[in-house]
Amino acid sequence: MHTLTLYIAREGLKHQTGHNHPECPERLQAIYSLLDKSPFMALPQIPAPEAELRWIKRAHDPRYLERLENAIPDYGQIHIDNDTILSPGSWTAALTAAGAVCQAVDDVIAGKTLRAFCATRPPGHHAFPDHSEGFCLLNNIFIGALHAQSLGCARVAIVDFDVHHGNGSDAMTRQHENIFYASTHQWPLYPGTGQPEDNIPNRVLNVPMSAGEGSLPFRHIYEQNILPAVRHFQPDLLMISAGFDAHKDDPLAQIMLETADFGWITTELAKLAQECCGGRLVSVLEGGYNLAALSDCVSSHLKNLMA
Ligand SMILES: [Zn+2]
Repeated sequence: MHTLTLYIAREGLKHQTGHNHPECPERLQAIYSLLDKSPFMALPQIPAPEAELRWIKRAHDPRYLERLENAIPDYGQIHIDNDTILSPGSWTAALTAAGAVCQAVDDVIAGKTLRAFCATRPPGHHAFPDHSEGFCLLNNIFIGALHAQSLGCARVAIVDFDVHHGNGSDAMTRQHENIFYASTHQWPLYPGTGQPEDNIPNRVLNVPMSAGEGSLPFRHIYEQNILPAVRHFQPDLLMISAGFDAHKDDPLAQIMLETADFGWITTELAKLAQECCGGRLVSVLEGGYNLAALSDCVSSHLKNLMA
């Protein structure tokens, strides 16, 4: 069995968001350049297939999917909400991002690899059952979680350390049984949700952080709150919404984490998976908008997933 396998959705490069959009194809390019170098070049890479529509419909309203596909422009770009853009390649990019996660889930459950990292875009955790939001078209990680359930993994935990609250994942978790969603995120910040008063024990755990809080409170929240809650939930599969936009150099937020914090949380989650679910762990790229910081953080994440 491989320790770590990479799921590569190159079609993500064809999701064009226009000039000066932070969620740009160069993000994936930065990660793919990293993967060509030591020590990552030795890792197995699986090209992502498109997700089947019936898998996507477990998470999304069929009318939304129809609306989304029909909205794809023949050329140029269109806005489908305040900050989410469609280009001719966006539908295939979205299907392939979701397909990468489903393939990763298949392979982890089949025991071909212990851990998986999905290098995908567009990101997914702001996508709701019936609408896009915040650069996200399909909720890749949630489609993967429901795919895992269909394969007999009854209980799935999603830990989201992206700096934004995964409002789409949170909403979906409330509609499905046996999925646990935990998130640290900056507040106040887009999307403005994810308050502790909305938490549901053993289902949804949101822990907002203030701008400037930095490494120690971040680690403390995981040690004292989130890791014990995941342990209590006892997942059969652990999934990570791996957004790297809480880094101090990211232009979209100000939690001010260091690259080492992403390595630390990666190791803690890998240890937790080992303890709870035979090590089974699927990590899915979400945000991260400073290209150098993104590359450094993904490097740290992958090194610790390889360990
Ligand atoms: Zn984010």
